[in-house]
Amino acid sequence: MVRCSAALSEAVRENDRLGGDDMKGVIVGGGWAGCSAALSARKQGAEVTLIERTDMLLGTGLVGGIMRNNGRFTAAEEMIAMGGGEIFQRIDQNCLHRNIEFPGHRHASLYNVATMEPLIKKFLLEKGVDIQLSTRIDDVEMEGTRIRAVSGRQGGEKVRFEGDVFVDTTGTAGPPGNCTKYGNGCVMCILRCPSFGGRVSLAAKAGVKEMVGRKGDQIGAMSGSCKLLKESLSREVFDTLNQKGVAVIPIPPSAKSVGKLSTKACQQYALPEFEENIILLDTGHAKLMTAFYPLEILRQVPGCENARYEDPYAGGVGNSMRYIGMSPRDDALKVEGIDNLFCAGEKAGLLVGHTEAIVTGVLAGYNAVRWIRREKALVLPATLAIGDAIIHVREQMGTEAGLGYKYTFSGSVYFDRMKQRGLYTTDIREIEKRVDQAGLAGVFAK
Ligand SMILES: Cc1cc2nc3c(=O)[nH]c(=O)nc-3n(C[C@H](O)[C@H](O)[C@H](O)COP(=O)(O)OP(=O)(O)OC[C@H]3O[C@@H](n4cnc5c(N)ncnc54)[C@H](O)[C@@H]3O)c2cc1C
Repeated sequence: MVRCSAALSEAVRENDRLGGDDMKGVIVGGGWAGCSAALSARKQGAEVTLIERTDMLLGTGLVGGIMRNNGRFTAAEEMIAMGGGEIFQRIDQNCLHRNIEFPGHRHASLYNVATMEPLIKKFLLEKGVDIQLSTRIDDVEMEGTRIRAVSGRQGGEKVRFEGDVFVDTTGTAGPPGNCTKYGNGCVMCILRCPSFGGRVSLAAKAGVKEMVGRKGDQIGAMSGSCKLLKESLSREVFDTLNQKGVAVIPIPPSAKSVGKLSTKACQQYALPEFEENIILLDTGHAKLMTAFYPLEILRQVPGCENARYEDPYAGGVGNSMRYIGMSPRDDALKVEGIDNLFCAGEKAGLLVGHTEAIVTGVLAGYNAVRWIRREKALVLPATLAIGDAIIHVREQMGTEAGLGYKYTFSGSVYFDRMKQRGLYTTDIREIEKRVDQAGLAGVFAK
């Protein structure tokens, strides 16, 4: 069954590419990168269908919440100055805590993970994005090196979506086979693969040879945080979280864990403080800043005597595996080897984070529509943190050593680079000036 635009003849497609009204973009994967790409392409005048495998948008963003920590502040403000900041503004309005600090991290905001998804879904619908939930794409139809349509299942029904341009925002998490092979098995995380079917990469289906993050023998990386039911913690910890947003509890010697940090996706939290303390952040649930923690040992920590996991449900055993299956791409985020495929978020490289997914999503959605119009793709300059990160991560992924790192504006190797290059600042005027000097003020607004 064809769900979206009727088959377009080649002649009509050529017209569209010159700026007609029937430009059709199909975004596969409804995490932060996909939501952002969908909005960005829509703002450029395309008809946009956003396809998501599960029954909710936001993907791993359903259990995250940390924004604006360290260099993520700079990146968010750059995107706002470039006119692509609507999603950041909506997140800012839905934060439980703002401008908080925890070890190694300054001026962080924590969004409410429970209320974020419906708010973004409503916003995208108001903007005219066609959202197809519970729809898992599992095949592509090619015309030479161009994708003509994607197909899959929506419930029991077969569905097919044609488009002029496609964006792969399927992320890199799972599916359960990878979690079993490279991690500690399926731990029942928010991605709910057993119920909705696992991740399927659009680029891989189109024949692209994907890249795998690896360090030594470790393939991929384990997600770096869990969620505890806040109400299962002691009254004191519960109140501290509600009031301050952060609780730091020293781990008694009997409950010390060793050797978990090296496999973590979130290198920005691989600091001694995270080994010596239980660090909890209030995102609605209590975000436990470690990949996993055996429940019986966690319950030896003061205030956590009755703790229970909310995500993953088996957070005492392990966490989801990520960074398996990234697309080779250029700095405009076009996937190599396929004419009309762009990518963003984790799919675009070893980029960790909501902010990273949102900013690459804006660029991918924008360039996807420029591709239809036969306009030159926009590459953001290295004078901006976002441009530098996109270029730097692509370069690093071409090296064996570079594949062993994860990159985020919020810490570790990329935040160090930001500071060295003078890109990190929280001075909004300075950021606006930089964007202006690059000739990019409001570029994504139109
Ligand atoms: C537990 C956890 C906590 C985190 N906490 C934070 C945090 O606090 N702050 C932060 O900045 N970052 C955090 N991160 C990292 C951050 O969530 C991700 O790096 C970022 O959100 C990735 O976004 P994405 O859109 O690229 O991918 P994803 O979020 O993985 O989204 C991909 C989407 O594509 C869908 N999909 C896959 N295949 C198909 C298909 N074939 N058809 C249709 N749909 C498909 C998936 O269902 C999913 O919804 C966290 C990650 C995890 C796992």
